[in-house]
Amino acid sequence: MRTSYAIGVDVGGTRIAAGLVERKGRTLKEVRALTPAEAGPFAIVDAIIELIEGVAVTVHPGEIAGIGVGLPAQIDFLKQTVEFCTNLPLAGVDMRSLIMSRVRHPVTVDNDGNCAGIGESRFGAAKGVRDFVMITLGTGVGGALFLDGEPYRGSRGLGAEIGHMVVQLDGPPCPCGGNGHIESFLGRPALAARGRAAAAEYKGEAIRDEAGGDAEKVTAENVVNAALAGDEIARDILLDAGTVLGEALVGIVNLLNPKLIVVGGGIGESCAFLVERAAEVIDEHALAGRRDVRMVQAELGNDAGVLGAAALAFDEHDSREGLHR
Ligand SMILES: [Zn+2]
Repeated sequence: MRTSYAIGVDVGGTRIAAGLVERKGRTLKEVRALTPAEAGPFAIVDAIIELIEGVAVTVHPGEIAGIGVGLPAQIDFLKQTVEFCTNLPLAGVDMRSLIMSRVRHPVTVDNDGNCAGIGESRFGAAKGVRDFVMITLGTGVGGALFLDGEPYRGSRGLGAEIGHMVVQLDGPPCPCGGNGHIESFLGRPALAARGRAAAAEYKGEAIRDEAGGDAEKVTAENVVNAALAGDEIARDILLDAGTVLGEALVGIVNLLNPKLIVVGGGIGESCAFLVERAAEVIDEHALAGRRDVRMVQAELGNDAGVLGAAALAFDEHDSREGLHR
């Protein structure tokens, strides 16, 4: 049967969102809750179930194709288990079974970057583009690879971790345990640390003011806001981050010859000049593929994860039923 709705769940380190989504990407109902990150995996599952029930009541259960869940984690896509998770206590947890035991619908779990990429591919900035790279700049740095129209996850599903590409082997520590990864330069904690260092000096006055005069309290958003208001010091911090991003993307352009690079996440969507700086680096340093690639900001904002997770649930349902997209 060709069902009309799917439920998409986007689990973040801070918030969980769930939406009841139509095939064309319209969200009928969306609910959100804080992630009970400290309370353990079962509390996180409880929160997810509550949100799913909150949106599912709107329609007949037979009309729901399934549930897609995006997690901020490396997912073994074949086994559908969590392999590694930095921000939440989910490593080794069989999230799909835990959720499926409490709902009446099939569940598919995937990495949140993949879900955001599927969302932008189906309904947003990458609509109709078969070869593109998604990169999400938020608290963590995630991403997705779309090759020949399909998300590419690697042999087991652990791939496309663009945020953990090495740009400097002896660089700053990354939350994942590595060093010098893109995330260790562009994640919110990294940008905030540079903002705090600048705010502690006289010249960092504008950044300090954004944090209410306390250099110790500077966040990544304070740096972004100071830069958008014209402060050169804040702007330089973000341009440096854009340069690092561009350096990593030169390799990706040379390797994959994508048509589009979509930059999303809270930082990516608020910082056009960071994205432009990365595009300049690609233009200066990549091989001939630089002429094929456009770099754009994502279009779906916070909704990308929910919409992509729902699209994944539709796809899994349709392939089970032998229906074609
Ligand atoms: Zn890392």
